[in-house]
Amino acid sequence: MNTYDTIIIGGGPSGMMAAISSATYGQRTLLIDKNRKLGKKLAGTGGGRCNVTNCGPLEDVIAGIPGNGRFLYSVFSQFDNQDIIRFFEDRGVKLKEEDHGRMFPTTDKSMTIIQCLVDEMIKFGVTIATQTEVVSVKRPEDRFIVKTKDQTFEAERLIVTTGGKSYPSTGSTGFGHDIARHFKLEVTPMEAAESPLMTDFPHKRLQGISLDDVTLSYEKHIITHDLLFTHFGLSGPAAQRISSFVSGGETIYLDVLPNHSKQDLEALLDENREKSLKNTLKTILPERLAEFYCDGLPEKGKQLTHKERDHLLERLKQLPIPVTGKMSLPKSFVTKGGVDLTEINPKTLESKKVPGLHFAGEVLDINGHTGGFNITAALCTGWVAGSLHY
Ligand SMILES: Cc1cc2nc3c(=O)[nH]c(=O)nc-3n(C[C@H](O)[C@H](O)[C@H](O)COP(=O)(O)OP(=O)(O)OC[C@H]3O[C@@H](n4cnc5c(N)ncnc54)[C@H](O)[C@@H]3O)c2cc1C
Repeated sequence: MNTYDTIIIGGGPSGMMAAISSATYGQRTLLIDKNRKLGKKLAGTGGGRCNVTNCGPLEDVIAGIPGNGRFLYSVFSQFDNQDIIRFFEDRGVKLKEEDHGRMFPTTDKSMTIIQCLVDEMIKFGVTIATQTEVVSVKRPEDRFIVKTKDQTFEAERLIVTTGGKSYPSTGSTGFGHDIARHFKLEVTPMEAAESPLMTDFPHKRLQGISLDDVTLSYEKHIITHDLLFTHFGLSGPAAQRISSFVSGGETIYLDVLPNHSKQDLEALLDENREKSLKNTLKTILPERLAEFYCDGLPEKGKQLTHKERDHLLERLKQLPIPVTGKMSLPKSFVTKGGVDLTEINPKTLESKKVPGLHFAGEVLDINGHTGGFNITAALCTGWVAGSLHY
């Protein structure tokens, strides 16, 4: 039997940070992951560049985590987004801020972040077992018995960081929820969050167009962020954020020029009456989108009837887009739901029922927007779960 003080199941951002923290506290620590490489999902974030955190003020970070972000006040009082930034910079990893406070390594490579976490684990003597899938966890007395296909490990403390149920090809298949249920902890229903939207829209001809800081709205929800037209509908942060409020059958509205008022656009059309409408719109929109808005309209601005002009302005500021559905949980970026937070001590992330059993990261019922908020939650909860609280 291999005996440790702490065993961590799951080598994503939360598990790696939990391992570093645990080892820093002098615990003999084992990190187990079933993948060949650690941080497989993390590697794919931010388009492969690793959106390691968000540098906004704490209130903005909490607001960026609409799924139970407020539970994290106690965690963030111990380790927050600024600590993440310091953690990497102290270890020689330079970070840069991009739009909306998103932080990336200056190398633009996820590997820089993952390697830093791995180096730190090695420095503190963490034992790392990759290509090792945990198949059962038991606690016959006061120690956890963790079994893989051909090995058995034992520890006083177990930290479960197995992620949610999105993108199961990265390893997050919901095993941690089974562990929680085994120990009779509640698990809230899981559903897709931060999902691309399927729309009834001429998306094929707009496919590939990406727009910075446009506004999508649905009822009282107004999101201004980047948007991407895809072969099935809409993706990118604006679509993913509005996905929390729709399921299919609703109409959302796109303001493609939120920084231009209707009056600004009227003035632009007036100034360019003699010119081709398409060329006028091309000065403020990508060419293919300008063509789309000109569909069925006369060639020159001055040829527009009042009705056509009003309709064009209306569509530029409030284009109706019928939503037909959103991507399923496995194809969504984030999982809403997970281990019920009423089961968990917010200061230590330990189960209230089972001493020594901790949960961190997306396995918990916490979900944030993409933009570094989930990764922040994963790294910070990982650090706290790995810490010893005397
Ligand atoms: C395409 C994509 C883009 C994203 N972009 C962003 C973004 O820009 N910003 C942001 O904040 N978030 C983003 N996210 C979400 C973010 O990546 C996750 O919230 C984060 O990785 C969760 O970290 P975690 O450590 O909790 O779990 P995970 O990263 O999912 O890691 C869980 C690990 O547990 C292992 N595991 C599971 N079961 C077992 C078992 N039985 N035995 C051994 N190992 C096991 C898995 O192999 C896996 O490595 C994105 C997600 C996706 C899919």
